[in-house]
Amino acid sequence: MYNVAHVENSKCTAEKGCRLCIMYCPEADTILLNPETQKAEIVIQRCKGCELCVIVCTTAKAITMHPVDGATGNILLGHKQGEVAGLGQAYAG
Ligand code: SF4
Ligand code: SF4
Repeated sequence: MYNVAHVENSKCTAEKGCRLCIMYCPEADTILLNPETQKAEIVIQRCKGCELCVIVCTTAKAITMHPVDGATGNILLGHKQGEVAGLGQAYAG
């Protein structure tokens, strides 16, 4: 399985001071505060798919998990996490 997190800007409240996902993500420098948008932003190449950020963002529900195209490295926002099994992707570590 190879899923990564994605922040929906319209739901993220980082501009009001929330930093929960940034604080709790166990991978260094994987969730950053975008200085222009003032929203949390996932560095998908670094995300390990642990979903801790989804769990801590319970109020805003701004983070969802999506599969990654193994060939291009692009996040497949049109696909929900549950569909990843059908894509036959391997966890790249
Ligand atoms: S926990 Fe949710 S609302 Fe808070 S900064 Fe992260 S994505 Fe935004
Ligand atoms: S899924 Fe895990 S590694 Fe990826 S951004 Fe969220 S907390 Fe960090």
